[in-house]
Amino acid sequence: MSQITVFEAKKIVTMDPNRSAATHVAVREGKILAVGGADCGDQWGDVIHDKSLSHAILTPGFVEGHAHMMAGAMWRYAYAGYHDRIDPKGKLWTGMRDIDAVVDGLTEFEGTLAKDEPLVGWGFDPIFLSSERLGAKHLDQISTDRPVAIMFSNFHLMCVNSKALEMAGYDEGTNAEGVVKGPDGKPTGELQEMASMFPIMRRLGIDFRGLSQTPEAIDDYGEVAQRAGVTTITDLFSSIEDDDLAIMLKITSKSDFPLRIVPVLGAMGTPSEVADRAETLAKSSSDKLRLGAVKLMTDGSIQGWTARVKWPHYVGGHPNGIWNTPPEQIFALCAEMQKRGIQMHIHVNGDEAAEASIDAIEAALRLHPGQGHRHVLQHCQMMGRDLYERAFELGCCANIFSNHIWYFGDQHAALTIGQDRAERMNAARTALDTGVNIALHSDAPVTPLGPLFTAWCAVNRQTMTGKTLGAAQCISVDEALYAITMGAAYTLKLDSEIGSIEAGKTADFAVLGEDPTAVDPITLKDVPVLGTVSGGVVHLL
Ligand SMILES: [Zn+2]
Repeated sequence: MSQITVFEAKKIVTMDPNRSAATHVAVREGKILAVGGADCGDQWGDVIHDKSLSHAILTPGFVEGHAHMMAGAMWRYAYAGYHDRIDPKGKLWTGMRDIDAVVDGLTEFEGTLAKDEPLVGWGFDPIFLSSERLGAKHLDQISTDRPVAIMFSNFHLMCVNSKALEMAGYDEGTNAEGVVKGPDGKPTGELQEMASMFPIMRRLGIDFRGLSQTPEAIDDYGEVAQRAGVTTITDLFSSIEDDDLAIMLKITSKSDFPLRIVPVLGAMGTPSEVADRAETLAKSSSDKLRLGAVKLMTDGSIQGWTARVKWPHYVGGHPNGIWNTPPEQIFALCAEMQKRGIQMHIHVNGDEAAEASIDAIEAALRLHPGQGHRHVLQHCQMMGRDLYERAFELGCCANIFSNHIWYFGDQHAALTIGQDRAERMNAARTALDTGVNIALHSDAPVTPLGPLFTAWCAVNRQTMTGKTLGAAQCISVDEALYAITMGAAYTLKLDSEIGSIEAGKTADFAVLGEDPTAVDPITLKDVPVLGTVSGGVVHLL
């Protein structure tokens, strides 16, 4: 009989209403055998008492339902973001607050590159800068012979220098959606959405997939997660080629790998090709690697003005956004996935994209009725009561982008969709009131991974300037903690295995320095993460 370990904690917040708090949890073969007091494991045989966590508070390991594996790998490129940020090794990178700082910082980084390497930056966001828009002319100050490409923080836009424009063949004669031109008719260097960015990425060899699918990058993802108390995470738009799968299976099968990963196949190709691949991948699922779901990319990003937004559209007369997948294709994909019983995660930032996707799911369900699909609307930033009511009727879940309230809330009120609609963005209260199961997410590396911070955003709805944006949409700490554990597990169809600390489930815990249910809600984000336990293995920082 294998060993029984009884972990003692200062307090265990279980998220199981049958026993909401405890002090001990008994673990055998990586699973929870019993929860309760010091004697909880005794009826199962001889136990070993482990006091290494007795100073800590345990909660279920946090579940991040929308993040990307490149959260670890991006740090191989130059960080050019506005906010201070901590890398997987714990190093602090100072934010760059104006274009000069970006140019200086990247010029310094350029000195570290080999002669033929392109310079790639990430995390930049012009919405925080009051100066003119970043263009090729600024990036030409860094280099005119080396291609330079700066990916914006939302990963939906980029800016490149003249050399990169030349390599992609973009000039006055180019007439493609997303290639922004200035008054002189020449490309400014800014590129919006996937169709315009892909040629640059191909020519420069910017390969997020290749970068994300190395053993080191997967290990880095594990480290990023551990720092945030996360034990299950998605990679929510992956091409998952056979080589990638082999590497992921190998790394995640190591007994000390601290993370369960749910890679979700990006819907690229015809609906039947996508469905075939998803079905094949599902057969390779293992304990720490869960495959079979599909991600649809519909519109763009609100702060990049590329999301599809309903009337009255954007303030300041910005034209409406860009479809990465046009509605007729969304309908075709939804019909095929629903027919084949494949779960979908659908990116919807603007309310027009959310409505089109809900229409498509409704049509798919009319063609292929079936329950239990749990299709997940991802981001849901502008969904109001009407769309949540329909999401509930159709059996859909919502994964809400609460971090936006702090990072971009002020900008949304002033510059994108205006005060009224900004106050009802990321409407977690409405979602819960209509009965929709919710998760809350960071979309790391778009914003940093940290479910306690994400929960804090949903509870307090505070912006970067300290304003409360839409108090009517605040949710309670208990509701937010549920959303980052059980709620997120439900959206991944893993709620029978993870998300709460109860007998039968996997021994995945977040190890915290304070009790998140007892602190002042305004300090929820400051609760220290000391590490995680994954499958019964302790990983302290
Ligand atoms: Zn994303």
